[in-house]
Amino acid sequence: MKVRVTDLINKSNKTAFSFEILPPLKGNDIQKVYKIIDKLVEFDPQYINITTHHSEYIYKEMPDGTILKTNIRKRPGTVAVAAAIQNKYNTVAIPHLICKGFTRAETEYALIDLNFLGVYNLLLLRGDANKLQPDQMKGDGNNYATDLQKQVNDFNTGISEDGTVFEKFETPFSYGMACYPEKHEEAPNIESDIRYMKMKQDNGAEYFVTQMFFDNSKYFSFVDRCRAEGITVPIIPGVKPIVLKNQLNVLPKIFRSDIPEELASELRKCKTDPEAREIGIEWGIKQCKELMQHGVPSIHFYSLMASESIRRIAKEVY
Ligand code: FAD
Repeated sequence: MKVRVTDLINKSNKTAFSFEILPPLKGNDIQKVYKIIDKLVEFDPQYINITTHHSEYIYKEMPDGTILKTNIRKRPGTVAVAAAIQNKYNTVAIPHLICKGFTRAETEYALIDLNFLGVYNLLLLRGDANKLQPDQMKGDGNNYATDLQKQVNDFNTGISEDGTVFEKFETPFSYGMACYPEKHEEAPNIESDIRYMKMKQDNGAEYFVTQMFFDNSKYFSFVDRCRAEGITVPIIPGVKPIVLKNQLNVLPKIFRSDIPEELASELRKCKTDPEAREIGIEWGIKQCKELMQHGVPSIHFYSLMASESIRRIAKEVY
């Protein structure tokens, strides 16, 4: 599908709805993915993102007491999942391409496959580096999302990762990239993050999707700062409904997203996960209503474990 995300957002006469899914663990099949999507298609998703994950080490105790360390990929490839979704639902599928854990040659194979399959929209990211071990930090991989962006830009003009020029083989990949209203954990300050965002925009990022946040005021002031620095492309808010009580502490730790006291105090009162899930839904509705009143271009939902909550939020706000 050659339609671009920005065209979809612009042509949508209401705030566009989108969500992100993870390829299921190995051993499951595509029906598991379809079940999640089937719950949400009634809200007319304009596009569906599919995350990518590098391989991980697992440790297994052997009968003789030794520990076996193996490097495995826990989930099937995002390329195949994206193509299956796009074909079944006739909706734009956006595979995430990441730097970490992949060589540039592997990334090029993914681009060749995606071009072959007609999947032309991408989200370009560095990837989570926390769980990577030194031998998985492939020396011949991209380091930053901006390096991956250069590889995709080159590929679009027929230049291979080793610098050779293909026979006329122009690909039309368009893409968005990530941003962090509460600053990326490694950035020395928000100005530095915004400087790299501007670089991403100037080199072809057509929109940004934010890390999850729970406090809309942080998103609004971040967008104002970005606009002041010349970032003009859509900045799509990422919303994650809380579904577990322990996410009160886990999400700020993993994603560096603050939980406002108004929400935190309600979650602290919960005795069970189902109670926490109800609070997450209420908060999600309130958050989305306010974002929509501010005219955001689209709302992007993080759906891990939360597809039922998203369905209930979307039913209320769409
Ligand atoms: P980068 O843009 O490379 O930034 C990383 C850090 O380096 C930042 O501090 C930035 O300020 C700085 N920086 C940026 N460019 C440069 C440069 N050229 N030189 C020096 N410093 C630079 N992770 C996955 O593994 N799989 C996924 O599918 C996935 N999907 C995501 C989707 C969204 C919407 C978001 C917000 C995140 C996602 N992540 C995913 C997590 C993401 O990969 C991590 O947050 C990662 O740590 C940073 O990714 P990035 O693309 O922002 O990196």
